[in-house]
Amino acid sequence: MTQIIDGKALAGAVRAEVAEAVREIKAQGGEVRFAAVLVGDDPASQIYVRNKQRACEQAGIIFELHTLPATCQFVELTDLVRQLSADKKINGVLLQLPVPYEVVGDRLNEVLNLIDPCKDVDGLTVANMGKLVDGTAGLCACTAQGVLHAIHSVCPDVSGKNIVVIGRSRIVGRPTSLLLSNHHATVTVCHRLTKDLALYTPTADIIVVAAGCPGLLTADMVKAGAIVIDVGINRLADGRLVGDVDFEKVACKAAAITPVPGGIGPLTIAFLLKNIVRAYRLQHGL
Ligand code: NAD
Repeated sequence: MTQIIDGKALAGAVRAEVAEAVREIKAQGGEVRFAAVLVGDDPASQIYVRNKQRACEQAGIIFELHTLPATCQFVELTDLVRQLSADKKINGVLLQLPVPYEVVGDRLNEVLNLIDPCKDVDGLTVANMGKLVDGTAGLCACTAQGVLHAIHSVCPDVSGKNIVVIGRSRIVGRPTSLLLSNHHATVTVCHRLTKDLALYTPTADIIVVAAGCPGLLTADMVKAGAIVIDVGINRLADGRLVGDVDFEKVACKAAAITPVPGGIGPLTIAFLLKNIVRAYRLQHGL
């Protein structure tokens, strides 16, 4: 019988832990404060930021939203990020992606690297990426942690497992593959230019799909009994929200699978909250 991994329930437990940690910090006279920067008026980004705000407030974390218009200058954005990063009262800083190309052009990395690595709750600075490569503890991308947590809920030890990660973006695929490799899995990374995905996926014990292509992973590409983690979030023309996996058919073959919605999405938010508290602790030498 296929296990549907309940990301909402798993996230609920992580969020309860975070809320308890924030209560302890407050009891000792501290406060945890998080700043999100939103550039432009992309409706999806506005929804993501609102969800983060709600989650922070429920956990007792103070949320600040800093908005800039899509017409702002590059220097206005860098000034804002620098100022938030230097503000001692702020424990976590996040730049909501994507940032309009008209504002950052090819210089997004420059902006991200202005964030103090101890406040970089998305784990996107070169310093935190480097720590992930190095296998030392930094702030690691929230979705990657959510993926590992979902896998651990059905497979507590990934060492020696064959894992195929489809997607190698800086925010999802790449940190996920590094984190899984740090946990001693044998990781194969596939991407847009991989010639034949179906050559790799049937040998995998675990498949993580983060491509943004509805229906990319079909049942014939999956070994019976595999664990399938669907990170994709795609809005179809009829308004439905789906992942990258042909869920109904793959679910019949997999041992365990994450749904969309209700899988990795809620876990990503939960691990953002966890990173904010971790950032607070790093800044206070705890
Ligand atoms: P991206 O566009 O930056 O990267 C997509 C990656 O997938 C690239 O490496 C690309 O080479 C690869 N890819 C694309 N088409 C492919 C194909 N046909 N075959 C093989 N590889 C292919 O996207 P992203 O930011 O990494 O996001 C990926 C998906 O995950 C999107 O649907 C996004 O909405 C979703 N997402 C979900 C969460 C969550 O919390 N669940 C968080 C972030 C992103």
